[in-house]
Amino acid sequence: MTEIQQIRALLNTPKEVVILSHRNPDGDAIGSSLGLAHLLKKLRHVVTVILPSECPTNFKYLPGFEDVLIFDLYQDEARKKVDEAKLIFCLDFNALDRIDKLGEHVQFSKADKIMIDHHLDPEPFAEFIISDITASSTSELIYCFIRDLGMEHLLDETIGSCIFTGIITDTGSFKYSTRSLTYEAAAALKAKNVDDYGIQNNIYNSLKEKHLRLLGHCLANRMEVFEEYGAAMIHLTKQDYKDFNIQRGDTEGIVNYMLMMENIQIAAFIMEQPSIVKISLRSKGDIDVQQIASRNFNGGGHKNASGGSAYAKLEDVLDRFRKLVPGFLAPVHK
Ligand code: 5GP
Ligand code: MN
Repeated sequence: MTEIQQIRALLNTPKEVVILSHRNPDGDAIGSSLGLAHLLKKLRHVVTVILPSECPTNFKYLPGFEDVLIFDLYQDEARKKVDEAKLIFCLDFNALDRIDKLGEHVQFSKADKIMIDHHLDPEPFAEFIISDITASSTSELIYCFIRDLGMEHLLDETIGSCIFTGIITDTGSFKYSTRSLTYEAAAALKAKNVDDYGIQNNIYNSLKEKHLRLLGHCLANRMEVFEEYGAAMIHLTKQDYKDFNIQRGDTEGIVNYMLMMENIQIAAFIMEQPSIVKISLRSKGDIDVQQIASRNFNGGGHKNASGGSAYAKLEDVLDRFRKLVPGFLAPVHK
């Protein structure tokens, strides 16, 4: 039997299923999880989506958003669900340390585990690993999964809205990471009446005044540009977090603004959080920030979008980045 036939056989009888995704869930983590959950519910499975930490509220339009179990808020219940699950899906992450303490429960669980992911170098903790780094998003892979299971007829607007959300957020509305299958998936979802304009509106036009004020502060006061090396960096201090009342998710997308500059190829967004300094890296074209993140900031991700963290003083992390800058690319001569 092929892998997909084995999975299909596992899905034949209804059972307790847990779907997990990574901490600080983004549109792809939430969208792929909820999309798959709706499919499995149609197959009469008892499904729980568990995420380690809270979701940005602009995704509250997604069907099933309210039913997601947040580990940070309901630890005992989440542990129990994982321990009782017969089948565990791990979506949009490649290593158990991306799901905090839940990782141990997954590791020791007797359940069959299926990873569906598009990050480099998946850790072999699951029985089935559907990993494809050429996919735009895990949500796109969920579309392929449904198709490969021969269940395309079950695809509906509800499932489609979730999957479409993940594709949109991981490709910046089809600006990067796409392949022809990305558009095939989008076309199939549109054909199922997915409200693509409404979804884009929910995702991108849902900012509060404080978000634009914070963006203005970052661009006006916190941005360093290393023009000759095609790099730029923005940082936020703990004091900024207080002054702008920054909550989880409020800084989403700020890193991308630096790449809007013509000659900037690498952007770093460095945040002084309560116990760690968090780093977000983005790049254009061939520049691989995944390597920079894993070598210098204990992180990883994708070639053009990675992240990491450091237990160090903010100033030291900023200096570490400044020292790396000359090595990224040859100086740009105008
Ligand atoms: P972001 O900058 O939006 O937090 O993350 C961008 C990408 O980098 C995500 O897709 C995620 O997979 C990856 N990433 C972010 N933070 C970390 C981290 O601390 N460790 C690893 N391995 N990957 C990360
Ligand atoms: Mn993703």
